[in-house]
Amino acid sequence: MPESYSVNQLKTWNKCQKKYEFDYVRKLLWPANPKNFRLGKGVHQLLDYASRKLPLAPILTSADADIVSVWQILNDSKWAKLPIIASEWGFSLEIQKSWLYGRIDRIAQEDDRIHILDWKTGTGIPYPAQEDWQTLIYLYAVFEAQKELGISIKADQLTFTYVQVNHNALKTVQVPYSTALHEQIQDRLTQTLDIIQATSSFQLPPQCPDRFCPYRKICGIESPEILEELSDPQAENKVKSVVAEEIF
Ligand code: SF4
Repeated sequence: MPESYSVNQLKTWNKCQKKYEFDYVRKLLWPANPKNFRLGKGVHQLLDYASRKLPLAPILTSADADIVSVWQILNDSKWAKLPIIASEWGFSLEIQKSWLYGRIDRIAQEDDRIHILDWKTGTGIPYPAQEDWQTLIYLYAVFEAQKELGISIKADQLTFTYVQVNHNALKTVQVPYSTALHEQIQDRLTQTLDIIQATSSFQLPPQCPDRFCPYRKICGIESPEILEELSDPQAENKVKSVVAEEIF
């Protein structure tokens, strides 16, 4: 049976193999606090509804003030005014008998150029943007799915454009595409999926890259001896209770 991978899964793999193990191999996948997503979710919904010309007035009167304020800044920007090819476009991409899936905020056209637009509200723009899996996979997916999207472009007509609102100011970071980058991404994806599928021992990074990670007490970054204790499959309930204590 083919494996499937989300963009977040590959980002987690890059960040910390141990977190990847807890999230996707042992499938602990602890739900994140919904409060962390309130602003982003609200703004993305408003932008999507606006792109579909749905009536916004009833939502705007009851939405939180910060959601309306950030939405207004993005919706007034030149990026939201470009002709729309797709909004909240979901894709599945076959790579070497595996499937990669994701969802792109908006694809828009500016003259003969296509922009993949990613709205950033709470979280920052990844740095360096040109090395982030989200940037690379979205570029690759749009270029591969031209027929489905009804476009026909050369690689250098495609750009990933992050659009961020930070302290009420707009910031953009762009990553241009090219034929060479398309080939590099294909090679990198193939190699990475091969490595993930062949890995059975997941390594800790030299330093923790995520101060909000719920696995701090069990991953071994603070106390290496706990790893051995919790690696026994019988210890799964203990793992869950330690993580739950960390979160709640
Ligand atoms: S706490 Fe840090 S080192 Fe441990 S699993 Fe999470 S991200 Fe990795």
